Amino acid sequence: DNAQPKKPDWIRVRAPGGQGFNDTHKLMRDLGLSTVCEEAGCPNVGECWTQGHATMMIMGEICTRGCTFCNVATGKPSDLDVFEPGRVAHAVEKLGLRHVVITSVDRDDLEDGGAEHFAQTIRAIRHRAPDSTIEILTPDFLKCAPSVLETVVEAKPDVFNHNLETVPGLYPSVRPGARYFHSLRLLQRVKELDPTMFTKSGIMVGLGEDRQGVLQVMDDMRSADVDFLTIGQYLQPTPKHHAVERFVTPDEFKSYEKAAYGKGFLMVSATPLTRSSYHAGDDFDRLRAA
Ligand code: SF4
Ligand code: SF4
Repeated sequence: DNAQPKKPDWIRVRAPGGQGFNDTHKLMRDLGLSTVCEEAGCPNVGECWTQGHATMMIMGEICTRGCTFCNVATGKPSDLDVFEPGRVAHAVEKLGLRHVVITSVDRDDLEDGGAEHFAQTIRAIRHRAPDSTIEILTPDFLKCAPSVLETVVEAKPDVFNHNLETVPGLYPSVRPGARYFHSLRLLQRVKELDPTMFTKSGIMVGLGEDRQGVLQVMDDMRSADVDFLTIGQYLQPTPKHHAVERFVTPDEFKSYEKAAYGKGFLMVSATPLTRSSYHAGDDFDRLRAA
């Protein structure tokens, strides 16, 4: 598509490689684990993996949804692997992670959307790596009974993250199959179920939203008591994915960060290369030390 804007120089990333990177890569291979770092073609993989930070993606590599920004394959997923929670916990222990982020594909084919599998994964990590803090980045459980959320919350992750991804007006073209207010309500319900749990959400920018829309999403999140916010530049994984409408400048990101703190978020990461799981552990440590 020749209408795509040229990548600016602030979207610069270090090429992956080196000992730490290779160790992380090998561990994931050996344990047969998928990472969103690879599946999403994340630009930070060189930096994160060198430090042993990987975001594991559970419940398979095939998603029942087809979000137009996402590089994960859509189709009919295979059965859940009952040994996966144990392998994830093993990897967390091996990597010596202080903070782990676990995400998943969407499993609309499962009655509980994979809630019990998430809960088991959290419990397995707690057992093997009791000092690690756990952040989960979940699907929306749109087609499930509302009670499945309790299953996940009762397993007590430290941070419950669910991304709104974009402004409501862009849902039909960016996140078909999801509902903005359902996702917002999910975040609010987590806080109602356990007011001590940190909640987190994020959006991508550069998809065609405007500043007013982004500020409105921030207000919506705060009205649902969301604690942490991430905002990053959308990058097109392949030419058949949603187009990059524009590259948001570093100054605009700074201004979003400032606005977000003004609205009461406890922690904000808003930079071109921010991803949900980027520096999540460092940020969380900083918060706990404060
Ligand atoms: Fe993986 Fe997240 Fe780092 Fe990207 S930012 S490489 S998804 S841990
Ligand atoms: Fe990708 Fe998640 Fe959408 Fe599935 S639900 S297509 S994994 S963003």
